[in-house]
Amino acid sequence: MEKKIVKNFEEKLRNKGYRNTEQRQAVLSAIIDNQGRHLSTEEIYDIVKANSPDIGLATVYRTLLLLEEMNLIHKVDFNDGRSRYELNKSNEEHLHHHLVCTQCGSIHEVKDDLLEQLEKQIHEKNGFLVTNHSVKFYGLCSECQKNNSQKTYQKT
Ligand SMILES: [Zn+2]
Ligand SMILES: [Zn+2]
Ligand SMILES: [Zn+2]
Repeated sequence: MEKKIVKNFEEKLRNKGYRNTEQRQAVLSAIIDNQGRHLSTEEIYDIVKANSPDIGLATVYRTLLLLEEMNLIHKVDFNDGRSRYELNKSNEEHLHHHLVCTQCGSIHEVKDDLLEQLEKQIHEKNGFLVTNHSVKFYGLCSECQKNNSQKTYQKT
């Protein structure tokens, strides 16, 4: 899958008349290597900088815009004041859901759509065809629930 994404990127760059520089490649690789982590611009910059010390934050920023424009990545917002990015998965018809822990800030993904029934109802009742959605569930992750119950247990 990774090879396919890189090839796709090279092809799109060529079509647009851009060169595939080492730095552009490094930004894409950082995202590919950290799938499911929803890295922010700054985090991507830190990863890329480790191997390419010459790269600037502005280059990372511009490359992310380019990747977004090419439909290879998209922005996700977890209301923490940072732009985060993840790969567009070609096998996903609709975007996966995110579980945001309000205690530790961890983010987990729900792979299954689970909304087919709701989408069908919306189409029937509102005549609206759902083509995608961006769903965030807020709550407590299993780790935090465990930690919380241990704390209460210790107190009593
Ligand atoms: Zn759906
Ligand atoms: Zn948590
Ligand atoms: Zn995600």
